[in-house]
Amino acid sequence: MTASDRGRATEPSRCVAAHSEDPTNCAGPRDAVIVLDSHGGRAAGCERHAARLLASLDGAHVEPGSVPGAATRAFRAAESIRPFCWHTNTPRTESSQLSRAEDRVARNHRH
Ligand SMILES: [Zn+2]
Repeated sequence: MTASDRGRATEPSRCVAAHSEDPTNCAGPRDAVIVLDSHGGRAAGCERHAARLLASLDGAHVEPGSVPGAATRAFRAAESIRPFCWHTNTPRTESSQLSRAEDRVARNHRH
């Protein structure tokens, strides 16, 4: 095993925030945004995966990471991302399956 092989093997292919079932690649630095779940867990992620993770976790928050403004952008993007958005075959009928923005619209129609 050469040094370059070891480098490839130990380097994670994607940021920690990327869900194992999410097929997309990272967008930007892998520590651009810190995602905090409601249990106190922390995961550094790229802007794209932080937004997707945030949309999928109830009660999650973001903190600024290495990229200024990325946490704010991820927070805004998460509003319109459906939970586990990579599950494209899932029916989107329940409130918990819709994005927060979609759920707000659905709630308004029910009133
Ligand atoms: Zn990522």
